[in-house]
Amino acid sequence: MSIRVAVIGTGPAGMYTVGHLLDQPCAVVEEIAVLDRLPTPGGLIRSGVAPDHPNTKRVQTRFDRSLRDPRVRCYFNVEVGADITHSELFSCHHALVYAVGAAGSRSLGIDGEHLPGSHTAADFVAWYNGHPDLSARAFDLGTKRVVIVGSGNVALDVARILTLPVDALRKTDIADHALVALADRNVEEVVVLARGTVATAAFSSTELLALTQLDDIDVLVDADFDNLCEPVGYGDRLKLRLLRELSTRTPRGDRRRIILRFMTSPAAVLGATRVEGLQLVRNELRDGRLVATGDREVLEAGLVLRAIGYRATPIAGLPFDEASGTVVHDRGRVEPGVYVAGWFKRGPTGVIGTNKYDAADTVKLLLADSAAGLLGHPTGSWAEQVANKLPAAVGVEGWTRIDEHERNTSSDRPRVKVTDRAALLDIAR
Ligand code: NAP
Repeated sequence: MSIRVAVIGTGPAGMYTVGHLLDQPCAVVEEIAVLDRLPTPGGLIRSGVAPDHPNTKRVQTRFDRSLRDPRVRCYFNVEVGADITHSELFSCHHALVYAVGAAGSRSLGIDGEHLPGSHTAADFVAWYNGHPDLSARAFDLGTKRVVIVGSGNVALDVARILTLPVDALRKTDIADHALVALADRNVEEVVVLARGTVATAAFSSTELLALTQLDDIDVLVDADFDNLCEPVGYGDRLKLRLLRELSTRTPRGDRRRIILRFMTSPAAVLGATRVEGLQLVRNELRDGRLVATGDREVLEAGLVLRAIGYRATPIAGLPFDEASGTVVHDRGRVEPGVYVAGWFKRGPTGVIGTNKYDAADTVKLLLADSAAGLLGHPTGSWAEQVANKLPAAVGVEGWTRIDEHERNTSSDRPRVKVTDRAALLDIAR
């Protein structure tokens, strides 16, 4: 049987799924509808990867080739659940694969967390990357100190963007509004708070190494290297070595600094009407467990960014586990005909390449279900649904127009992103 599949989401998980489906002969996979709620494809490649990491974005060229495959039909600017329901989509396809990522953020659950001046790092990242939903947001960069809670790779990305000289960012595809705000910033110090020991920091050794090699930033470490009781693997040994080396560095002092501070948690975000600082608590290890001590202090800061992990948002029609923040599934199958891939499936972990293998597992299961006759027979007309419900959908030609417009706007930058949804739609038309 030849099947028609809809893939929802055009980030790495969705596009690797499309790629694996295209690897199948036409007699197996006849057509793939690709949907995204934004007028532009790319997901985290466009809105998540740091602008000073252009090499990581190169995979988009390959994804764009898949979008132009004759078996692929693109429907961007279409939100499943708002423009079309899950059941309407399902009635027209043999199978759906949701690869919608994790657009929400975890919360700290402490006082003051939602004061003005306290934001999720996810919002800050989307803002500097020109996501249309965040382009009107303002972040106060008039403050001298910013505190980032969490010590993952997102925390390091954000710390770097906040401290790199604006000239280093001018040659990137960072959003224009972010470039203007960063050119005018007063930020001198970014403190990255890790609740655990140097041996358990969530950032990767590669990202830490890249940070240590930047000439324009002082990177300092405030940590205790004694009393480590966690087993340390190969990658973590490199990280530890780098952190030890950083802890001995003397700051040059004439440049912005990042302080990686360990064994510290935020107990409250402080401020009368907006963020003025954080109450911090020092942690210690007792029998291998992290425990808060009575040792508290106040750290002044005008901006707090919570980089404590992303969280998926539920989609009407799909079972969702609130505790883990992921959809309920078995190895990627929600039910025969409905599948998940990427962060929506496994939570916000891994790097872009992880999604290749994850998507392969989901596609394998989908094809096995098809071969076993478990998929239903779609009775709805997709052409009718598109005509009636999706008149504002942007196709691959529209995306090509946006892409060319953004690339041709400046000869010094890889692209100048259009960050307003209406303007994107105008260009697409
Ligand atoms: P992450 O790697 O899961 O890090 C989350 C951080 O938040 C951890 O340090 C965690 O501490 C901390 N945290 C969680 N709850 C906390 C709480 N209540 N109080 C204090 N700290 C808390 O998440 P992420 O940085 O958002 O990254 C998501 C994924 O994207 C990761 O797989 C990451 O590697 C990937 N990514 C990769 C790159 C890259 O390769 N360049 C760039 C960006 C993102 P504990 O460790 O103690 O739990």
